[in-house]
Formats: sequence, C-alpha cells, structure tokens
Amino acid sequence: MGDCGHPSSNIPFPRRPIIILGAGIIGCATARQLLLNGFSVTLVAEYLPGDQDISYASAWAGAAWHAAGGISPEHRYIQAVSHRHLLRMAQEEPNSGVCIVDAREYVEQPPSRDSSAWGKTILPKFRDLNPGEFPSEFNCGWAYETVVTDPTRHMPYLREKITSLGGKFIRKRVEALEDLYTLFPDSRVFINASGIGSRTLRDVRDEKCFPERGQNVFYRTSNYHTFYFQNGKSYTYIIPRPLSQGVILGGVKQRDNLSPEVDMDIARDEIARAHSLAPEIVPENPPEESLSYIVGIRPSREGGFRLDSQQIENRLILSAYGFGGGGYAFSYGIGDALVKMVEKAEKDNVIL
Ligand SMILES: Cc1cc2nc3c(=O)[nH]c(=O)nc-3n(C[C@H](O)[C@H](O)[C@H](O)COP(=O)(O)OP(=O)(O)OC[C@H]3O[C@@H](n4cnc5c(N)ncnc54)[C@H](O)[C@@H]3O)c2cc1C
Repeated sequence: MGDCGHPSSNIPFPRRPIIILGAGIIGCATARQLLLNGFSVTLVAEYLPGDQDISYASAWAGAAWHAAGGISPEHRYIQAVSHRHLLRMAQEEPNSGVCIVDAREYVEQPPSRDSSAWGKTILPKFRDLNPGEFPSEFNCGWAYETVVTDPTRHMPYLREKITSLGGKFIRKRVEALEDLYTLFPDSRVFINASGIGSRTLRDVRDEKCFPERGQNVFYRTSNYHTFYFQNGKSYTYIIPRPLSQGVILGGVKQRDNLSPEVDMDIARDEIARAHSLAPEIVPENPPEESLSYIVGIRPSREGGFRLDSQQIENRLILSAYGFGGGGYAFSYGIGDALVKMVEKAEKDNVIL
C-alpha cells in the first residue's frame, strides 16, 4: 500500500505502463508514437505482428494510403498526419516496408465537396488528368504520388521497433478490459485497439462493430509502380507491392461474411476488373502460377471508427477501433492523437 492507503499510489505517473489491448496496425502505431515520446508501453494481444489469422486484419491489408471521402475535417487531418509519418518512413527507413508510388484515380461522378479530392492538399505531384489521359466513361481523373505499405514487412518492422524502444508484447486473449485492470493494477491509462474484438469484449460489446470480409489477389509481376483506384459503381484497386514484387488486386466488401475459403468467382471478377482498369499491368488471363489469394476480415463499424476517452474511476480508457478498410491510412495519425490524449492525462495527474 502507498500513501493515504491507496495501493501503489506513490508510483510516478510516467512509470506506470500504458496498456494497449491489440497489436494490429492501430495498437502498434500507437505504441511506437508513445514510446518515441518517452512513455512506457505494454501491448497485450491474442495475435502479434507476424501472425496470420483471418480476424487479424493488419496482416492482410493492401495497404494503400488513399484520401477517404465523406469524412470530417478532423478525420482528414488524422489521415494527413498519418501520411506525413508514412512518407518519412518511405524516405528514411527502407526496412519499414513503406514505398512511394505513382497513383491514378478515376472518378465517375463530378467530385462533391466531401469527396476524396481533399487529398490534393497533401499529395505530392497532384494534378488533374487531361481528357484523353483517362477512360472516357469517367468524369475526371487525378494523378499523384502516394505511399503504400507492405504489411508483410511493416508489421515485423513495428515489432522490432517497439521492442528496441523498450515496449513489451504479451500474447494473451482477454474476455474483458477488466481483465487488464487486474493484470496491471498500477496502470492508469488503457487503450482499447482491439479491432473487431470490441464486438465481444464483455465490458465493451459495441454492437455497431461488424466484420467485413475482404478478398484480394496477389499477382506476381515486375510492373509494380502505379496505384490505380476506382470507387464508384465498381470498387476496384491495384496496389503496388514493390518489395514483394507484385501487385494487389481488389476489392470486395462482404458484410458479416466470415468465410476463410477463397471464392474463385470473386477472384476472377477482381482480375477482370483490374484488367479493364489497367490492361498494361494486368493481362486478361494472368498465369495461374503468378497468382495467390488473400482473405481477411476488416473491423468495420457503423458510423465510423471510435476515438474517445472515458474516465472510469481512477483509470482513463481510450478507445481506438472500428477502422474498417482504412486502418493503415489512419494509423500514425491515430497514434499521435492518442499521444495527445495521454499527455492530457499526464498533465492532469502530474502537474495539477
Ligand atoms: C483485404 C483487405 C484490404 C485492406 N486494404 C487496406 C488499404 O488499402 N488501406 C488501409 O488503410 N487499410 C486496408 N485494410 C484495412 C486494415 O487492414 C484495417 O483497418 C486495420 O488492419 C485494422 O487494424 P486494427 O489494429 O484496428 O485491427 P487488427 O489488425 O484486427 O488487430 C486487432 C488486435 O486486437 C487483438 N484482440 C482483439 N480482441 C482481443 C481479445 N479479446 N484479447 C486479446 N487480443 C485481442 C487481436 O489479436 C489483434 O492483435 C484492408 C483490410 C483487408 C482485410
């Protein structure tokens, strides 16, 4: 017991590890940002970087940075911060698995005020395509540079980075956030970055969360330099993966479908759509031996992701989950937002 009869109350705030539930891109990006700011961090998760379970979305992402449409200015800024960090990694840390690529986006309808056109405020080399530079069935097109992240490199990079900065990983499944309060009685800040896990955690049970199945084709090719994106009647992307020497072809979103089996009708349709988007990259019938398939569950949430803080007795609970198809695009911006929330708690506890 510490002073005034409170258990361990004499442990200084900065020495109480911040506990993160979840070691996907959100938990790990947040851990990295907290550690770089001098906090001590422990991640607790059933699946850790390098694992390959269908429910562990971060292993399966494309993962391109693309400006999301239909989001608030605050969320645009979070994406912009994320882009800044990813760009720096692409330029300075080749082992991070982040690369800069050219991009071409084709737009079916005249872009509205809340379309993804806001990306032009941060994307290098952004320009409107001239008529004749994009297929005539589209309203307009944009060219720019963006960043793509290869999760097969980035997640192991993050594991090493976090460990080298003094962070700890504990492999453990919990049934409720409360389990963590018992395991870490000295900690005051807990971050719930459990993705789809937030649907079933006993003291969260967020019914807005739902699984959204994705299935991609990996096509091995040396033509892996340009990201193509079309989001309208058809949701189709070609995401370069230079370090794995190929491209990812997608996409599809299937709500409440948890099947781990590859659906070959979907795979064939994705190849056909990618071929019509960029025939110079994807032939009509790519050789079977150049193809492999990826299936993962996106942790989606009705109304969008959750990012907020709650004071529950003497603990601060921060929630960061429900990123659906955009966890990598938001990752480091969310990490920085959570650092600010933890700093506020630090100020309340240390200064006041
Ligand atoms: C096919 C596909 C393509 C995608 N393409 C893109 C893209 O191009 N760009 C992009 O930005 N995003 C993309 N995404 C989305 C991206 O993968 C997700 O948004 C992101 O990975 C979510 O990260 P997360 O950390 O929230 O969740 P996850 O990666 O699912 O991690 C959740 C963590 O919580 C842990 N956990 C959950 N419950 C418990 C529990 N009860 N006890 C202990 N641990 C628990 C898990 O073990 C895991 O460590 C794609 C996803 C898919 C499937």
